Amino acid sequence: MRSLKQNILAGLLSGLSLVAATAVAAEEKIKIVASFSILGDMVEQVIGEHASVTTIVGPDADAHIYQPSLADARSVADADVIFVNGLGFETWSDTLIAESGTKATVHIATDGITPVLVDAEVDPHAWNSLLNGVVYVTNIADVLKQKLPEHANDIDANTSAYIAKLNALDAETKAALAELGDDKRTVVTAHDAFGYLADAYGMNFLAPVGIDSEAEPSAQELAQLIAQLKEDGAAALFVENITSPALVQQISDETGLEIGGRLFSDALSERGGPATSYLAMFKHNLSTLLEALK
Ligand SMILES: [Zn+2]
Repeated sequence: MRSLKQNILAGLLSGLSLVAATAVAAEEKIKIVASFSILGDMVEQVIGEHASVTTIVGPDADAHIYQPSLADARSVADADVIFVNGLGFETWSDTLIAESGTKATVHIATDGITPVLVDAEVDPHAWNSLLNGVVYVTNIADVLKQKLPEHANDIDANTSAYIAKLNALDAETKAALAELGDDKRTVVTAHDAFGYLADAYGMNFLAPVGIDSEAEPSAQELAQLIAQLKEDGAAALFVENITSPALVQQISDETGLEIGGRLFSDALSERGGPATSYLAMFKHNLSTLLEALK
């Protein structure tokens, strides 16, 4: 028989070891880094509470021209798993990963996606088709189930619920955009970020800037686009969350075409904004297009 004192001591010790075990479990949560906000949201949807997810290029920021900070290098160095978009989107990520000395495994979320070409260049904005979004999410889930087999059931449940939502929004998008007349299908954005949306949903996007947001159009290219718009028309112009609205404003001034709103092309919105998740971003873009084009 243990004395009361021994029982209290044993109770305290088991309580203490429980606290210690919980602390260790919290510390041992696998660390995932995602290169930009849209991808970070997809990873969070798949993994839920079972990992800590850090995003390098945050909301409303431009991943094409991003310059990593020391804090980014630290996050990458500490990471267990890194997800990037690939297709040439993150021009800075290879150097950051190599110089950080990280032991993390690096995974390309667009694996298996058929790239769209814009002027013979690979368009990296593959997430702008929801069926490609399903490929991203499936790739992410495959990697995370291998890394965390103990959470495979949760990952599967999260993934199938999420994919069902992506498929439903894809069907809704196809049905809504199918109703637009042919004269409502050509729109202008600041940079060429919607090639996959155009392909998937039968739209035509024109842009003064190519697939890399940092490229400046020459005066001649801009004049050509404005002449084309005056000749052929376009249904609406849209500014973007990650690029300056000046160029689109200039096109609007010179063509008399109206600006139909703001699309989220390459990044989510800040918290409280209209596009805080991939699904919300896509819904916002769809309703902005429909409002301007109907
Ligand atoms: Zn872009």
